Amino acid sequence: MNKKKIETICIQGGYEPGNGQPRQLPIVQSTTYRYETSEDMGKLFDLESDGYMYSRLANPTCDMVAKKIAAMEGGTAAMLTSSGQAANFFAVFNIASCGDHIVASSTIYGGTFNLFSVTMQKMGIDFTFVDPDCSEDELNAAFKENTKAVFGETIANPALTVLDIEKFAKAAHQHGVPLIVDNTFATPVNCRPFEWGADIITHSTTKYMEGHASTIGGCIVDSGKFDWTKYPDRFPGLCTPDESYHGVTYTERFGLGGAFITKAVAQLMRDLGSTPSPQSAFLLNLGLESLPVRMQRHCSNALLMAQFLENNEKVSWVNYPGLSSNKYHDLALKYLPNGSCGVISFGVSGGRKAAEEFMRNLTLASIETHVADSRTCCLHPASSTHRQMNDEQLAAAGVPADLIRISIGLENIDDLIEDVSAALKKL
Ligand SMILES: *Cc1c(COP(=O)(O)O)cnc(C)c1O
Repeated sequence: MNKKKIETICIQGGYEPGNGQPRQLPIVQSTTYRYETSEDMGKLFDLESDGYMYSRLANPTCDMVAKKIAAMEGGTAAMLTSSGQAANFFAVFNIASCGDHIVASSTIYGGTFNLFSVTMQKMGIDFTFVDPDCSEDELNAAFKENTKAVFGETIANPALTVLDIEKFAKAAHQHGVPLIVDNTFATPVNCRPFEWGADIITHSTTKYMEGHASTIGGCIVDSGKFDWTKYPDRFPGLCTPDESYHGVTYTERFGLGGAFITKAVAQLMRDLGSTPSPQSAFLLNLGLESLPVRMQRHCSNALLMAQFLENNEKVSWVNYPGLSSNKYHDLALKYLPNGSCGVISFGVSGGRKAAEEFMRNLTLASIETHVADSRTCCLHPASSTHRQMNDEQLAAAGVPADLIRISIGLENIDDLIEDVSAALKKL
């Protein structure tokens, strides 16, 4: 299935029913699995045979959806998690522990920034944040003796910076560590980071992948290309026996294609249990079926909206990678030739007051903190998520008081532009 085009994988990947089996993905709503003998079960615990024992670790419905996402990204193995936060935590924690260091882009999603700079810092993992637009020299200078990985987002949420994946992959590989890319906003429909040198991909499937604002979820995909065995001292968890798991050495038993994900399941899911429900995996799978069609519409709608905003006199600035005036347009043409995403940010002339009034004037776009689903939604951070900050603090945080973030949905673009146009006209 890996060789098929993405539209086909999205429909037919992951689950191939046999004769007389259900056409739609079955929901295996079971915590446990029955075996004939204790020996059969023993082999599962020793990871000597394939199969299921307990749904905290793995469940057939979830695995079939993970297999589809692995094929969409062109990876060798994948694991679903209960949220995007869990996916990013597991992806990093699978290779870094107390005393280690990670290099990360400074414009990553606020939730991930907090996870790294507060919670994982408390666990003894150190982070250096670099400007995604930094030079190769600046990037190389961020590495330390104990660096275990580099982390960035294809299109950052909500800064909309575009990551130069090749630049980050080159630096990571020169220092013998993998590049982890959060591909949530682009989705594999618009960018496949493995083709540009990334080694591990994460997703918040909550966004475009599920696409209908119904289900929180995440995913980790392995390219199978990073050779952990070249650096056994740097990645002992993958290259030496796991005494907590019957002495298995993941790279030996599962090869480069399976080691990372098997370790994440066998250790992290076992101990931390951020498991999605099979119902959630089913809903995610429904979303994936239409992802290529939806992404095309999200992007064409968003480009028309961005162009409209750019030409409106009441709008002071527009940030959308698809606009030819955008700072990241060249990177977007390279990495995202079919479109970027449906999220735009822009400034309303007249600052905070005008932005608040604009929000009140909208009738179709609803006010939400969410992004990336079928319904158009809008957020004015200065009067909601960031309301405790004054104008100076907001500017310093890169969220100026006049900033509006709009996530363009799948409605008819004429209706959306009319709504925004009328809201601006009343100012
Ligand atoms: C939303 C988001 C996350 C967090 O995902 P949840 O599913 O909300 O836990 C991580 N990364 C990016 C880029 C996101 O947009």
